[in-house]
Order: sequence, then C-alpha cells, then structure tokens
Amino acid sequence: MDCLFCKIINKELPAKIIYEDEKYLAFLDINPITAGHTLLILKDHVDNFTHLSDQQAADLASMIHKIAPKIIEILGADAYNLGINNGAAAGQIIDHVHWHIIPRYSDDALVHWSCDNQAKEQLDNVFSKLENKL
Ligand code: 5GP
Ligand code: ZN
Repeated sequence: MDCLFCKIINKELPAKIIYEDEKYLAFLDINPITAGHTLLILKDHVDNFTHLSDQQAADLASMIHKIAPKIIEILGADAYNLGINNGAAAGQIIDHVHWHIIPRYSDDALVHWSCDNQAKEQLDNVFSKLENKL
C-alpha cells in the first residue's frame, strides 16, 4: 500500500520512533510545530477518524491518555494540545489516522485559536440544527 505511515510501520522508511507495541506506533513529527511534536498511530491502516471502529477509536484515546502526559513530563513542557486533522479541508495530508500530540511551552510561538465573527453570527442557527440531533 502506498501509505507513508504504513511504510514507517513496516520500517521501509526511517522515523524517530519513541513508542511501539503490537498495536501502536508513536514517532516524532518530521516538521515539529513545537519541540516534542509527536504522532500516535494505530498499526491498522484506516484513512480517517470517521472510519475507525468504536474499538479502534477507544484504543487510540486510551493510548494517547497514557503517553501524552509522559511526553510532557519528560520534556518539561507546560501543557499540550491534542489534535486530529480529519479530511483535506481540515489540513489532513497523510491518509492514515494520526493523533498529534503538541507539547506547549509558556513562551512558545503558537497562536491560540481565535473567534471567527461570521461563525459567531451563526451560533443560533447552528444550535437549532444540532440541538437534540446527536
Ligand atoms: P496531517 O496534516 O496529515 O494531520 O499531518 C501529517 C503530519 O505528518 C505533518 O505534521 C507532517 O509534518 C508529518 N510528516 C509528513 N511526512 C512525514 C515523515 O516522513 N516522517 C515523519 N516523522 N513525519 C511526517
Ligand atoms: Zn497506512
């Protein structure tokens, strides 16, 4: 399969792997947003978060809950962001589900999310679409 992350799993491409077991792989992002930016993946090839089974989603969440605080502690970071870019419009480039662990430092240069005024104007409209629909 022509998947870059499967190639990393199969050791056909090098990576700075910091955790591996039969189910998961965690490795450093080649273009880190902050020091310690890590990607956690399942070894099963699934293209995006929506297509994970309930069990796979739960497994991934459980492992991120285990390793993210350790990374932060070891690196002496102050906090962390977790994120999955899901779909091209959300910035997903690699079609193999991966969870970004982004250590944060009180003096880092990452910009915080800011409010979009057009989205704010749609609050009532969006609420009426979503309320009691899930
Ligand atoms: P996405 O935009 O799909 O959510 O994130 C893909 C991530 O994979 C990016 O942060 C990018 O820097 C990282 N990446 C792309 N190619 C490689 C690679 O060959 N090795 C590693 N370690 N990371 C990669
Ligand atoms: Zn893959």
